[in-house]
Amino acid sequence: MSEQNLVVLGATGSIGLSTLDVVSRNKEQYRVFALVAGQNAEKMAELCLRHQPKYAVMSSEHAAQQLSQRLVGTTTEVLHGVEAMAEMARHVDVDIVMSAIVGAAGLLPTLAAVEAGRKVLLANKESLVMSGQLFMDKVKAYGATLLPIDSEHNAIYQCLPTTIQTGQSSNLSHSGVSKILLTGSGGPFLQRSLATLASVTVEEAVAHPNWSMGRKISVDSATMMNKGLEFIEAKWLFNCSADDIEVVIHPQSMIHSMVQYRDGSVLAQMGQPDMRTPIAYGLAYPERIDAGVEPLDFSQIVDFTFTKPDFNRYPNLKLAIDACRSGQAATTTVNAANEIAVAAFLEGKIGFCDIYRVNALTLEQSTLGVLESVESIMETDRTARHRAQQIIATLR
Ligand code: NAD
Ligand code: MG
Repeated sequence: MSEQNLVVLGATGSIGLSTLDVVSRNKEQYRVFALVAGQNAEKMAELCLRHQPKYAVMSSEHAAQQLSQRLVGTTTEVLHGVEAMAEMARHVDVDIVMSAIVGAAGLLPTLAAVEAGRKVLLANKESLVMSGQLFMDKVKAYGATLLPIDSEHNAIYQCLPTTIQTGQSSNLSHSGVSKILLTGSGGPFLQRSLATLASVTVEEAVAHPNWSMGRKISVDSATMMNKGLEFIEAKWLFNCSADDIEVVIHPQSMIHSMVQYRDGSVLAQMGQPDMRTPIAYGLAYPERIDAGVEPLDFSQIVDFTFTKPDFNRYPNLKLAIDACRSGQAATTTVNAANEIAVAAFLEGKIGFCDIYRVNALTLEQSTLGVLESVESIMETDRTARHRAQQIIATLR
């Protein structure tokens, strides 16, 4: 296959760096066309010098200026702002877009890639949580290829029948699937006494036992809001209902999720907890490339366990599942509130258990309408953020 041009949205983050690592191992197949990031000009400069993209986009003008200074004498053109990000994602020379900006900021550039009919590798789960129906409708309307990168969804995708993968069928039960088993480790506080959860520190919350990830998703894993967002993500990606999805706690993170079939078969995808595996899968689909990941060594596996999630321990998981049943306005609202709450927790402004309070109160105080356009989604997102900020002010 000829060389494919790649855009990495969120290049300086955990997923972005893992993507560039896989690309470096498969240089003859992928060329880095553009890199996109938020504010970190220093890291971005380093990546530009190594990968020599045609374009580099930062979120602010200030960060773009800093980057330009560091790239004097190179051929990389530096741009800034959301519109420039979207332009990269829909550029005619681009084949593949890795969507790995964290949070709602990823929505517009990702939709731009979808509307251009690109091959979209989706790590930014928040965009599906916000715009599920609209997003999936656009994937269909514009003939985009959507490959899930979130490890669970990537695992599920790998375990689904080819007819579903290739879009020939979109009905799981007609294809013999009876349940999607979404696994999660339970995060760092699976065993911690409930009475001490309120005093959890930022350092404890971001220290995930199995995965190394960005700070926001690490906190989401500790509250299991991450699994809640993934529950909503799965509903949209696989065109199923909340009743078709079950969350299973599997602390070792070796099974990345499973698909149960009508005949009693359960297919699981296994591997190291290393995002380079799903990233490589997405890049090369339907082929397989080197991801730099060692296979599992079964002679070293001691424990292999499964339990049901306890909603007293993980109220955010319940909140997200309920929002999933309620609809798009609820999921957009809970996602926005959670971004604000997690940022406040990371800044030391609220406690760990306050994250749930902020999320639940924001939902409770919101009037949930029907969201049919990107504008109404963005408006709901803004209103919920504002409300969450106000709730945080009353908690402090
Ligand atoms: P991260 O915090 O490490 O990186 C986030 C990236 O987004 C950075 O490059 C940052 O510069 C960029 N960014 C932030 N705000 C931006 C803005 N306004 N405009 C442009 N770029 C902006 O996060 P991460 O762990 O790499 O996660 C990225 C996404 O992938 C999240 O949606 C997360 O839920 C999802 N995801 C991550 C993992 C993982 O293992 N890290 C696994 C599954 C899914
Ligand atoms: Mg995941």
